[in-house]
Amino acid sequence: MSVSSSNPGEQMNRSYDAIIVGGGITGTSLLYALSAYTDVKSALLIEKYSDYAQLNSNSRNNAQTLHFGDIETNYSKEKAISTKAAAKMVLRYCSTIPAAQRNGIIQKCQKMVLAVDDFEIESIEKIYQNIGGIFPELRRVQHKEIAKLEPNVVKGRDRGQKIAALYSPDGYMMDFGLLTRNFAMAAKRRKRVRIDAMFDTVAKHVSEGGEGYTLHTSNGSFTGKAVVFAAGTYSLYFAKSLGYEKNLSILSVGGNFYYTPRVLRGKVYRVQRGHIPFAAVHGDPEITNPDVTRFGPTVSLPMELERHHPGTMLDYVRTFDFDMPTAASLKRIMLDRDILSILSRNILYDLPLVGKGEFLKREASLIVPSLKPSDLTFAKDIGGIRPQIIDENKRSLVLGEAKLKESGLIFNITPSPGATSCLANAVEDARYLSEYLGCRFDDAKAEKELGPINYK
Ligand SMILES: Cc1cc2nc3c(=O)[nH]c(=O)nc-3n(C[C@H](O)[C@H](O)[C@H](O)COP(=O)(O)OP(=O)(O)OC[C@H]3O[C@@H](n4cnc5c(N)ncnc54)[C@H](O)[C@@H]3O)c2cc1C
Repeated sequence: MSVSSSNPGEQMNRSYDAIIVGGGITGTSLLYALSAYTDVKSALLIEKYSDYAQLNSNSRNNAQTLHFGDIETNYSKEKAISTKAAAKMVLRYCSTIPAAQRNGIIQKCQKMVLAVDDFEIESIEKIYQNIGGIFPELRRVQHKEIAKLEPNVVKGRDRGQKIAALYSPDGYMMDFGLLTRNFAMAAKRRKRVRIDAMFDTVAKHVSEGGEGYTLHTSNGSFTGKAVVFAAGTYSLYFAKSLGYEKNLSILSVGGNFYYTPRVLRGKVYRVQRGHIPFAAVHGDPEITNPDVTRFGPTVSLPMELERHHPGTMLDYVRTFDFDMPTAASLKRIMLDRDILSILSRNILYDLPLVGKGEFLKREASLIVPSLKPSDLTFAKDIGGIRPQIIDENKRSLVLGEAKLKESGLIFNITPSPGATSCLANAVEDARYLSEYLGCRFDDAKAEKELGPINYK
Protein backbone atom coordinates (compact mmCIF):
# COMPACT_ATOMS: atom_id res chain seq x y z
CA MET A 1 0.00 0.00 0.00
CA SER A 2 1.25 3.51 -0.75
CA VAL A 3 -0.22 6.80 0.47
CA SER A 4 0.15 10.18 -1.11
CA SER A 5 -0.99 13.17 0.92
CA SER A 6 -1.36 16.89 0.50
CA ASN A 7 -0.01 17.08 4.07
CA PRO A 8 3.07 14.83 3.98
CA GLY A 9 4.49 13.98 7.38
CA GLU A 10 1.11 14.19 9.11
CA GLN A 11 -0.60 11.01 10.19
CA MET A 12 -3.45 9.82 7.99
CA ASN A 13 -7.00 10.53 9.10
CA ARG A 14 -9.51 7.71 9.56
CA SER A 15 -12.39 10.10 8.99
CA TYR A 16 -13.07 12.42 6.01
CA ASP A 17 -15.79 14.68 4.63
CA ALA A 18 -15.79 12.71 1.38
CA ILE A 19 -14.32 9.39 0.32
CA ILE A 20 -13.89 8.72 -3.40
CA VAL A 21 -13.48 5.15 -4.63
CA GLY A 22 -11.53 5.07 -7.90
CA GLY A 23 -8.43 6.86 -9.16
CA GLY A 24 -9.49 7.24 -12.80
CA ILE A 25 -10.45 10.54 -14.42
CA THR A 26 -13.87 10.64 -12.71
CA GLY A 27 -12.29 10.35 -9.26
CA THR A 28 -9.44 12.83 -9.69
CA SER A 29 -11.52 15.46 -11.54
CA LEU A 30 -13.87 15.37 -8.53
CA LEU A 31 -10.88 15.80 -6.18
CA TYR A 32 -9.97 18.85 -8.24
CA ALA A 33 -13.49 20.32 -8.22
CA LEU A 34 -13.75 19.80 -4.44
CA SER A 35 -10.43 21.50 -3.81
CA ALA A 36 -10.96 24.37 -6.25
CA TYR A 37 -14.62 25.30 -5.83
CA THR A 38 -15.82 24.14 -2.38
CA ASP A 39 -14.86 24.61 1.25
CA VAL A 40 -15.02 20.87 1.96
CA LYS A 41 -12.24 20.19 4.48
CA SER A 42 -10.95 16.71 3.63
CA ALA A 43 -11.17 14.00 1.01
CA LEU A 44 -9.71 10.51 0.70
CA LEU A 45 -9.26 8.72 -2.63
CA ILE A 46 -9.01 4.92 -2.60
CA GLU A 47 -7.48 3.16 -5.62
CA LYS A 48 -6.95 -0.56 -5.94
CA TYR A 49 -3.97 -0.33 -8.34
CA SER A 50 -0.61 1.22 -7.54
CA ASP A 51 -1.15 4.39 -9.61
CA TYR A 52 -3.85 6.64 -11.10
CA ALA A 53 -5.60 5.79 -14.39
CA GLN A 54 -4.79 2.11 -14.77
CA LEU A 55 -8.14 1.13 -16.33
CA ASN A 56 -10.33 2.96 -18.86
CA SER A 57 -8.80 6.38 -18.27
CA ASN A 58 -5.41 5.09 -19.43
CA SER A 59 -4.55 6.22 -22.98
CA ARG A 60 -3.95 2.57 -23.96
CA ASN A 61 -7.54 1.70 -23.19
CA ASN A 62 -9.63 4.47 -24.76
CA ALA A 63 -9.78 6.17 -28.16
CA GLN A 64 -8.18 9.44 -26.92
CA THR A 65 -10.98 11.58 -28.39
CA LEU A 66 -12.36 14.73 -26.83
CA HIS A 67 -15.94 14.17 -27.98
CA PHE A 68 -18.09 17.14 -28.98
CA GLY A 69 -21.07 15.36 -30.53
CA ASP A 70 -20.46 16.66 -34.06
CA ILE A 71 -19.02 13.53 -35.68
CA GLU A 72 -20.67 11.02 -33.31
CA THR A 73 -23.56 9.85 -35.47
CA ASN A 74 -25.35 7.99 -32.66
CA TYR A 75 -25.89 11.11 -30.47
CA SER A 76 -29.19 12.96 -30.16
CA LYS A 77 -29.16 16.76 -30.48
CA GLU A 78 -29.47 17.05 -26.67
CA LYS A 79 -26.55 14.67 -26.17
CA ALA A 80 -24.48 16.68 -28.68
CA ILE A 81 -25.24 19.93 -26.82
CA SER A 82 -24.32 18.54 -23.38
CA THR A 83 -21.20 16.79 -24.73
CA LYS A 84 -20.00 19.98 -26.41
CA ALA A 85 -20.49 21.89 -23.14
CA ALA A 86 -18.55 19.21 -21.23
CA ALA A 87 -15.72 19.17 -23.81
CA LYS A 88 -15.39 22.94 -23.60
CA MET A 89 -14.84 22.68 -19.84
CA VAL A 90 -11.95 20.29 -20.49
CA LEU A 91 -10.54 22.69 -23.09
CA ARG A 92 -10.75 25.60 -20.62
CA TYR A 93 -9.02 23.55 -17.91
CA CYS A 94 -6.29 22.40 -20.31
CA SER A 95 -5.63 25.99 -21.40
CA THR A 96 -4.41 26.67 -17.83
CA ILE A 97 -1.81 23.86 -17.92
CA PRO A 98 1.75 25.08 -18.70
CA ALA A 99 2.50 24.55 -22.41
CA ALA A 100 5.32 22.04 -21.85
CA GLN A 101 2.93 19.66 -20.05
CA ARG A 102 -0.14 20.54 -22.07
CA ASN A 103 1.28 19.19 -25.31
CA GLY A 104 1.41 15.68 -23.84
CA ILE A 105 -2.18 15.92 -22.61
CA ILE A 106 -4.03 17.53 -25.52
CA GLN A 107 -3.28 18.16 -29.18
CA LYS A 108 -5.48 19.66 -31.83
CA CYS A 109 -6.21 17.60 -34.93
CA GLN A 110 -8.79 17.64 -37.70
CA LYS A 111 -11.66 15.17 -37.63
CA MET A 112 -14.38 13.85 -39.91
CA VAL A 113 -17.15 11.32 -40.07
CA LEU A 114 -16.98 9.47 -43.36
CA ALA A 115 -19.99 8.13 -45.29
CA VAL A 116 -19.27 5.44 -47.87
CA ASP A 117 -22.65 4.57 -49.40
CA ASP A 118 -25.99 6.23 -50.24
CA PHE A 119 -27.54 5.27 -46.89
CA GLU A 120 -24.65 6.76 -44.92
CA ILE A 121 -24.51 9.88 -47.09
CA GLU A 122 -28.20 10.45 -46.44
CA SER A 123 -27.62 9.84 -42.70
CA ILE A 124 -24.87 12.45 -42.37
CA GLU A 125 -26.93 14.95 -44.35
CA LYS A 126 -29.79 14.50 -41.85
CA ILE A 127 -27.33 14.83 -38.95
CA TYR A 128 -25.92 18.02 -40.45
CA GLN A 129 -29.43 19.47 -40.80
CA ASN A 130 -30.09 18.58 -37.16
CA ILE A 131 -26.88 19.73 -35.46
CA GLY A 132 -25.04 21.91 -38.00
CA GLY A 133 -26.28 25.05 -36.21
CA ILE A 134 -24.57 24.02 -32.97
CA PHE A 135 -21.21 23.46 -34.66
CA PRO A 136 -20.29 26.44 -36.88
CA GLU A 137 -16.95 24.82 -37.82
CA LEU A 138 -18.60 21.64 -39.13
CA ARG A 139 -18.70 21.44 -42.96
CA ARG A 140 -20.05 19.01 -45.52
CA VAL A 141 -17.21 17.89 -47.78
CA GLN A 142 -17.25 15.81 -50.95
CA HIS A 143 -14.81 13.50 -52.73
CA LYS A 144 -12.46 16.19 -54.08
CA GLU A 145 -12.06 18.04 -50.80
CA ILE A 146 -11.73 14.82 -48.81
CA ALA A 147 -8.80 13.95 -51.09
CA LYS A 148 -7.09 17.17 -50.02
CA LEU A 149 -7.91 16.84 -46.32
CA GLU A 150 -7.23 13.10 -45.90
CA PRO A 151 -5.47 11.86 -49.08
CA ASN A 152 -5.35 8.22 -47.95
CA VAL A 153 -9.13 8.07 -47.53
CA VAL A 154 -9.46 8.57 -51.29
CA LYS A 155 -6.25 6.95 -52.63
CA GLY A 156 -6.96 3.50 -54.13
CA ARG A 157 -10.75 3.84 -53.67
CA ASP A 158 -13.02 2.48 -56.39
CA ARG A 159 -13.73 5.50 -58.62
CA GLY A 160 -17.43 4.66 -58.78
CA GLN A 161 -17.85 4.70 -54.99
CA LYS A 162 -19.65 7.76 -53.66
CA ILE A 163 -18.22 9.22 -50.46
CA ALA A 164 -18.99 12.30 -48.39
CA ALA A 165 -18.03 13.51 -44.93
CA LEU A 166 -18.73 16.00 -42.19
CA TYR A 167 -15.44 17.69 -41.42
CA SER A 168 -14.19 19.96 -38.65
CA PRO A 169 -10.70 21.35 -38.05
CA ASP A 170 -11.56 21.47 -34.32
CA GLY A 171 -10.76 17.96 -33.12
CA TYR A 172 -8.57 17.04 -30.18
CA MET A 173 -6.62 13.96 -29.20
CA MET A 174 -6.17 13.50 -25.49
CA ASP A 175 -4.04 11.57 -23.06
CA PHE A 176 -6.79 11.17 -20.47
CA GLY A 177 -4.37 9.24 -18.24
CA LEU A 178 -2.04 12.24 -17.95
CA LEU A 179 -5.04 14.51 -17.41
CA THR A 180 -6.20 12.21 -14.58
CA ARG A 181 -2.85 12.68 -12.85
CA ASN A 182 -2.84 16.42 -13.55
CA PHE A 183 -6.20 16.84 -11.77
CA ALA A 184 -4.87 14.96 -8.73
CA MET A 185 -1.70 17.07 -8.56
CA ALA A 186 -3.64 20.33 -9.03
CA ALA A 187 -6.02 19.30 -6.23
CA LYS A 188 -3.15 18.54 -3.85
CA ARG A 189 -1.49 21.90 -4.57
CA ARG A 190 -4.54 23.67 -3.08
CA LYS A 191 -3.37 23.23 0.48
CA ARG A 192 -6.71 24.37 1.96
CA VAL A 193 -8.23 20.89 1.60
CA ARG A 194 -6.62 17.85 3.15
CA ILE A 195 -6.35 15.26 0.38
CA ASP A 196 -5.04 11.75 0.88
CA ALA A 197 -4.80 9.08 -1.81
CA MET A 198 -4.30 5.42 -0.91
CA PHE A 199 -3.12 3.02 -3.59
CA ASP A 200 -3.10 -0.79 -3.69
CA THR A 201 -6.22 -0.57 -1.57
CA VAL A 202 -9.43 -2.33 -2.58
CA ALA A 203 -12.79 -0.97 -1.39
CA LYS A 204 -14.79 -4.01 -0.29
CA HIS A 205 -18.11 -2.69 0.96
CA VAL A 206 -19.77 0.27 2.58
CA SER A 207 -22.04 0.37 5.60
CA GLU A 208 -24.15 3.12 7.14
CA GLY A 209 -23.44 4.38 10.64
CA GLY A 210 -21.76 6.96 12.83
CA GLU A 211 -21.35 10.29 11.06
CA GLY A 212 -22.18 8.90 7.65
CA TYR A 213 -20.68 5.80 6.08
CA THR A 214 -17.90 3.36 6.83
CA LEU A 215 -15.92 2.14 3.87
CA HIS A 216 -14.29 -1.22 4.50
CA THR A 217 -11.12 -1.71 2.47
CA SER A 218 -8.27 -4.18 2.18
CA ASN A 219 -6.26 -1.73 4.34
CA GLY A 220 -8.74 -0.99 7.09
CA SER A 221 -11.92 1.02 7.50
CA PHE A 222 -12.50 4.73 6.94
CA THR A 223 -15.43 6.94 7.78
CA GLY A 224 -16.83 9.40 5.29
CA LYS A 225 -19.76 11.78 5.67
CA ALA A 226 -20.29 11.09 1.97
CA VAL A 227 -18.94 8.39 -0.35
CA VAL A 228 -18.54 8.67 -4.12
CA PHE A 229 -18.05 5.62 -6.30
CA ALA A 230 -15.98 6.68 -9.31
CA ALA A 231 -15.06 3.08 -9.97
CA GLY A 232 -16.24 2.64 -13.58
CA THR A 233 -18.36 -0.47 -13.95
CA TYR A 234 -17.66 -1.37 -10.32
CA SER A 235 -19.82 1.61 -9.27
CA LEU A 236 -22.88 -0.32 -10.42
CA TYR A 237 -21.66 -3.33 -8.47
CA PHE A 238 -21.55 -1.22 -5.27
CA ALA A 239 -24.92 0.45 -6.03
CA LYS A 240 -26.55 -2.94 -6.44
CA SER A 241 -24.96 -4.30 -3.29
CA LEU A 242 -26.68 -1.45 -1.40
CA GLY A 243 -30.03 -2.15 -3.05
CA TYR A 244 -29.93 0.70 -5.61
CA GLU A 245 -30.23 0.58 -9.41
CA LYS A 246 -31.85 -2.84 -9.41
CA ASN A 247 -33.28 -2.02 -12.86
CA LEU A 248 -29.82 -1.59 -14.39
CA SER A 249 -27.52 -4.29 -15.66
CA ILE A 250 -24.30 -4.16 -17.64
CA LEU A 251 -23.04 -5.50 -20.93
CA SER A 252 -19.25 -5.52 -20.97
CA VAL A 253 -18.28 -4.56 -24.51
CA GLY A 254 -14.63 -5.36 -25.17
CA GLY A 255 -12.76 -4.83 -28.39
CA ASN A 256 -9.41 -4.90 -30.12
CA PHE A 257 -7.41 -2.32 -32.02
CA TYR A 258 -4.88 -2.60 -34.84
CA TYR A 259 -1.94 -0.30 -35.50
CA THR A 260 -0.79 0.77 -38.95
CA PRO A 261 1.95 3.22 -39.92
CA ARG A 262 0.60 6.80 -39.80
CA VAL A 263 -1.91 6.92 -42.66
CA LEU A 264 -4.37 9.53 -41.37
CA ARG A 265 -3.80 13.19 -40.55
CA GLY A 266 -6.69 13.34 -38.14
CA LYS A 267 -9.57 11.35 -36.71
CA VAL A 268 -11.82 9.55 -39.18
CA TYR A 269 -15.01 8.14 -37.66
CA ARG A 270 -17.54 5.99 -39.51
CA VAL A 271 -21.31 6.23 -39.46
CA GLN A 272 -22.78 4.03 -36.74
CA ARG A 273 -25.90 2.25 -37.94
CA GLY A 274 -29.13 2.29 -35.97
CA HIS A 275 -29.17 3.35 -32.34
CA ILE A 276 -26.06 1.47 -31.18
CA PRO A 277 -24.70 3.30 -28.11
CA PHE A 278 -21.00 2.81 -28.99
CA ALA A 279 -18.93 4.13 -31.89
CA ALA A 280 -18.29 2.22 -35.12
CA VAL A 281 -14.67 1.37 -35.99
CA HIS A 282 -12.64 4.54 -36.50
CA GLY A 283 -9.06 5.53 -37.34
CA ASP A 284 -7.18 7.81 -34.95
CA PRO A 285 -3.73 9.29 -34.63
CA GLU A 286 -2.12 8.54 -31.27
CA ILE A 287 -1.12 11.37 -28.95
CA THR A 288 1.47 9.03 -27.44
CA ASN A 289 3.01 7.96 -30.79
CA PRO A 290 2.84 10.29 -33.81
CA ASP A 291 4.11 7.57 -36.17
CA VAL A 292 1.04 5.33 -36.06
CA THR A 293 -2.69 5.26 -36.74
CA ARG A 294 -4.92 3.13 -34.53
CA PHE A 295 -7.99 1.42 -36.04
CA GLY A 296 -10.76 -0.02 -33.90
CA PRO A 297 -12.30 -1.00 -31.63
CA THR A 298 -13.87 -4.27 -32.67
CA VAL A 299 -16.75 -5.58 -30.57
CA SER A 300 -16.75 -8.59 -28.25
CA LEU A 301 -18.77 -9.43 -25.15
CA PRO A 302 -16.32 -10.79 -22.54
CA MET A 303 -17.74 -11.83 -19.19
CA GLU A 304 -15.26 -9.63 -17.30
CA LEU A 305 -15.25 -6.18 -15.69
CA GLU A 306 -11.61 -5.66 -16.68
CA ARG A 307 -10.03 -6.55 -19.98
CA HIS A 308 -7.87 -9.73 -20.03
CA HIS A 309 -8.59 -10.14 -16.33
CA PRO A 310 -10.54 -13.40 -15.88
CA GLY A 311 -10.38 -12.82 -12.09
CA THR A 312 -13.07 -10.14 -12.55
CA MET A 313 -15.62 -12.63 -13.93
CA LEU A 314 -17.32 -13.16 -10.59
CA ASP A 315 -17.71 -9.38 -10.12
CA TYR A 316 -19.20 -9.25 -13.61
CA VAL A 317 -21.72 -11.98 -12.82
CA ARG A 318 -22.71 -10.16 -9.60
CA THR A 319 -23.10 -6.83 -11.42
CA PHE A 320 -24.95 -8.41 -14.32
CA ASP A 321 -27.38 -9.76 -11.70
CA PHE A 322 -29.23 -12.11 -14.03
CA ASP A 323 -32.99 -12.40 -13.51
CA MET A 324 -36.13 -12.45 -15.66
CA PRO A 325 -36.05 -8.72 -16.59
CA THR A 326 -32.35 -9.08 -17.54
CA ALA A 327 -33.21 -12.09 -19.72
CA ALA A 328 -36.06 -10.22 -21.40
CA SER A 329 -33.83 -7.16 -21.99
CA LEU A 330 -31.00 -9.27 -23.37
CA LYS A 331 -33.35 -11.08 -25.73
CA ARG A 332 -34.65 -7.77 -27.07
CA ILE A 333 -31.15 -6.29 -27.42
CA MET A 334 -29.63 -9.35 -29.08
CA LEU A 335 -32.48 -9.66 -31.59
CA ASP A 336 -31.98 -6.08 -32.73
CA ARG A 337 -31.03 -6.28 -36.43
CA ASP A 338 -28.16 -3.76 -36.16
CA ILE A 339 -26.67 -5.35 -33.05
CA LEU A 340 -26.93 -8.83 -34.56
CA SER A 341 -25.17 -7.61 -37.68
CA ILE A 342 -22.33 -6.01 -35.69
CA LEU A 343 -21.87 -9.07 -33.47
CA SER A 344 -21.84 -11.55 -36.34
CA ARG A 345 -19.30 -9.46 -38.26
CA ASN A 346 -17.11 -9.06 -35.20
CA ILE A 347 -17.03 -12.78 -34.42
CA LEU A 348 -15.07 -13.14 -37.68
CA TYR A 349 -12.42 -10.66 -36.50
CA ASP A 350 -11.54 -12.86 -33.53
CA LEU A 351 -10.92 -15.95 -35.66
CA PRO A 352 -7.29 -17.09 -35.81
CA LEU A 353 -5.54 -16.68 -39.21
CA VAL A 354 -8.45 -14.99 -41.03
CA GLY A 355 -9.47 -12.42 -38.37
CA LYS A 356 -7.04 -9.69 -39.42
CA GLY A 357 -7.94 -10.06 -43.12
CA GLU A 358 -11.66 -9.83 -42.36
CA PHE A 359 -11.11 -6.72 -40.19
CA LEU A 360 -9.14 -5.13 -43.00
CA LYS A 361 -11.71 -6.01 -45.68
CA ARG A 362 -14.85 -5.05 -43.73
CA GLU A 363 -13.62 -2.15 -41.58
CA ALA A 364 -10.17 -0.57 -41.96
CA SER A 365 -10.16 -0.56 -45.81
CA LEU A 366 -13.49 1.33 -45.80
CA ILE A 367 -11.52 4.17 -44.23
CA VAL A 368 -8.13 3.70 -45.96
CA PRO A 369 -8.63 1.51 -49.08
CA SER A 370 -4.93 1.11 -49.91
CA LEU A 371 -4.06 -0.68 -46.62
CA LYS A 372 -2.52 -4.15 -47.01
CA PRO A 373 -2.61 -6.98 -44.44
CA SER A 374 1.09 -6.43 -43.76
CA ASP A 375 0.33 -2.84 -42.69
CA LEU A 376 -1.80 -4.02 -39.75
CA THR A 377 -0.33 -5.08 -36.41
CA PHE A 378 -2.58 -6.38 -33.64
CA ALA A 379 -2.46 -3.86 -30.75
CA LYS A 380 -1.68 -6.14 -27.82
CA ASP A 381 -3.07 -5.13 -24.42
CA ILE A 382 -4.81 -2.11 -25.93
CA GLY A 383 -8.53 -1.37 -25.35
CA GLY A 384 -10.63 -1.36 -22.21
CA ILE A 385 -14.13 -2.53 -21.43
CA ARG A 386 -17.00 -0.30 -22.51
CA PRO A 387 -19.55 -0.80 -19.74
CA GLN A 388 -22.78 -0.42 -21.73
CA ILE A 389 -25.69 0.02 -19.37
CA ILE A 390 -28.85 -2.03 -19.84
CA ASP A 391 -32.04 -0.33 -18.66
CA GLU A 392 -34.27 -3.27 -17.79
CA ASN A 393 -37.37 -1.05 -17.60
CA LYS A 394 -36.88 0.05 -21.20
CA ARG A 395 -35.25 -3.26 -22.18
CA SER A 396 -32.57 -1.41 -24.11
CA LEU A 397 -28.99 -0.21 -23.99
CA VAL A 398 -28.44 3.31 -22.65
CA LEU A 399 -26.21 5.82 -24.44
CA GLY A 400 -23.53 7.36 -22.25
CA GLU A 401 -23.05 7.64 -18.52
CA ALA A 402 -25.37 6.91 -15.59
CA LYS A 403 -25.33 8.54 -12.18
CA LEU A 404 -27.23 8.01 -8.94
CA LYS A 405 -27.09 10.49 -6.04
CA GLU A 406 -28.79 9.41 -2.84
CA SER A 407 -28.28 10.36 0.84
CA GLY A 408 -24.63 11.32 0.47
CA LEU A 409 -23.78 8.44 -1.83
CA ILE A 410 -22.93 8.97 -5.51
CA PHE A 411 -22.46 6.19 -8.03
CA ASN A 412 -20.89 7.10 -11.40
CA ILE A 413 -21.01 4.53 -14.20
CA THR A 414 -18.98 5.87 -17.08
CA PRO A 415 -19.02 4.43 -20.59
CA SER A 416 -17.89 6.76 -23.42
CA PRO A 417 -17.87 9.77 -23.48
CA GLY A 418 -17.13 9.51 -19.78
CA ALA A 419 -13.59 10.91 -20.03
CA THR A 420 -14.82 13.95 -21.98
CA SER A 421 -17.58 14.50 -19.39
CA CYS A 422 -15.15 14.36 -16.42
CA LEU A 423 -15.36 18.02 -15.38
CA ALA A 424 -19.10 18.35 -16.06
CA ASN A 425 -19.56 15.28 -13.88
CA ALA A 426 -17.15 16.55 -11.24
CA VAL A 427 -18.85 19.93 -10.94
CA GLU A 428 -22.26 18.26 -10.61
CA ASP A 429 -20.93 15.92 -7.90
CA ALA A 430 -19.03 18.65 -6.05
CA ARG A 431 -22.17 20.83 -5.96
CA TYR A 432 -24.24 17.93 -4.64
CA LEU A 433 -21.64 17.09 -1.99
CA SER A 434 -21.35 20.74 -0.90
CA GLU A 435 -25.08 20.93 -0.41
CA TYR A 436 -25.19 17.59 1.38
CA LEU A 437 -22.27 18.47 3.69
CA GLY A 438 -23.51 22.00 4.38
CA CYS A 439 -20.52 23.50 2.57
CA ARG A 440 -20.28 26.25 -0.06
CA PHE A 441 -19.90 25.71 -3.79
CA ASP A 442 -18.38 28.71 -5.56
CA ASP A 443 -20.41 28.85 -8.78
CA ALA A 444 -18.87 32.12 -9.90
CA LYS A 445 -15.31 30.76 -9.59
CA ALA A 446 -16.20 27.51 -11.35
CA GLU A 447 -17.83 29.42 -14.22
CA LYS A 448 -14.91 31.86 -14.43
CA GLU A 449 -12.41 29.02 -14.74
CA LEU A 450 -14.36 26.42 -16.69
CA GLY A 451 -16.81 28.57 -18.67
CA PRO A 452 -20.60 28.28 -18.70
CA ILE A 453 -21.81 25.25 -16.79
CA ASN A 454 -24.75 23.26 -18.07
CA TYR A 455 -26.35 22.54 -14.66
CA LYS A 456 -28.65 19.51 -14.57
C1 LIG B 1 -12.40 1.25 -25.97
C2 LIG B 1 -12.81 2.52 -25.28
C3 LIG B 1 -12.72 3.74 -25.95
C4 LIG B 1 -13.09 4.92 -25.30
N1 LIG B 1 -12.88 6.09 -25.93
C5 LIG B 1 -13.20 7.26 -25.33
C6 LIG B 1 -12.91 8.49 -25.96
O1 LIG B 1 -12.31 8.53 -27.02
N2 LIG B 1 -13.31 9.62 -25.34
C7 LIG B 1 -13.96 9.62 -24.13
O2 LIG B 1 -14.31 10.68 -23.63
N3 LIG B 1 -14.21 8.45 -23.49
C8 LIG B 1 -13.83 7.28 -24.05
N4 LIG B 1 -14.04 6.09 -23.41
C9 LIG B 1 -14.65 6.12 -22.08
C10 LIG B 1 -13.65 6.57 -21.04
O3 LIG B 1 -12.45 5.84 -21.15
C11 LIG B 1 -14.27 6.35 -19.66
O4 LIG B 1 -15.55 6.93 -19.63
C12 LIG B 1 -13.45 7.00 -18.54
O5 LIG B 1 -12.09 6.65 -18.63
C13 LIG B 1 -14.03 6.55 -17.21
O6 LIG B 1 -13.24 7.04 -16.17
P1 LIG B 1 -13.50 6.51 -14.70
O7 LIG B 1 -12.56 7.21 -13.83
O8 LIG B 1 -14.96 6.64 -14.41
O9 LIG B 1 -13.23 4.95 -14.79
P2 LIG B 1 -11.82 4.20 -14.80
O10 LIG B 1 -10.81 4.94 -15.57
O11 LIG B 1 -12.11 2.80 -15.22
O12 LIG B 1 -11.38 4.26 -13.30
C14 LIG B 1 -12.05 3.54 -12.28
C15 LIG B 1 -11.04 3.32 -11.19
O13 LIG B 1 -11.67 2.70 -10.08
C16 LIG B 1 -10.78 1.75 -9.54
N5 LIG B 1 -11.55 0.79 -8.77
C17 LIG B 1 -12.53 -0.03 -9.22
N6 LIG B 1 -13.02 -0.79 -8.22
C18 LIG B 1 -12.33 -0.43 -7.11
C19 LIG B 1 -12.37 -0.87 -5.75
N7 LIG B 1 -13.23 -1.79 -5.35
N8 LIG B 1 -11.51 -0.30 -4.88
C20 LIG B 1 -10.63 0.66 -5.27
N9 LIG B 1 -10.55 1.09 -6.54
C21 LIG B 1 -11.39 0.56 -7.45
C22 LIG B 1 -10.11 1.15 -10.76
O14 LIG B 1 -8.90 0.51 -10.45
C23 LIG B 1 -9.92 2.39 -11.63
O15 LIG B 1 -8.68 3.03 -11.41
C24 LIG B 1 -13.64 4.89 -24.00
C25 LIG B 1 -13.72 3.67 -23.32
C26 LIG B 1 -13.28 2.50 -23.93
C27 LIG B 1 -13.31 1.22 -23.17
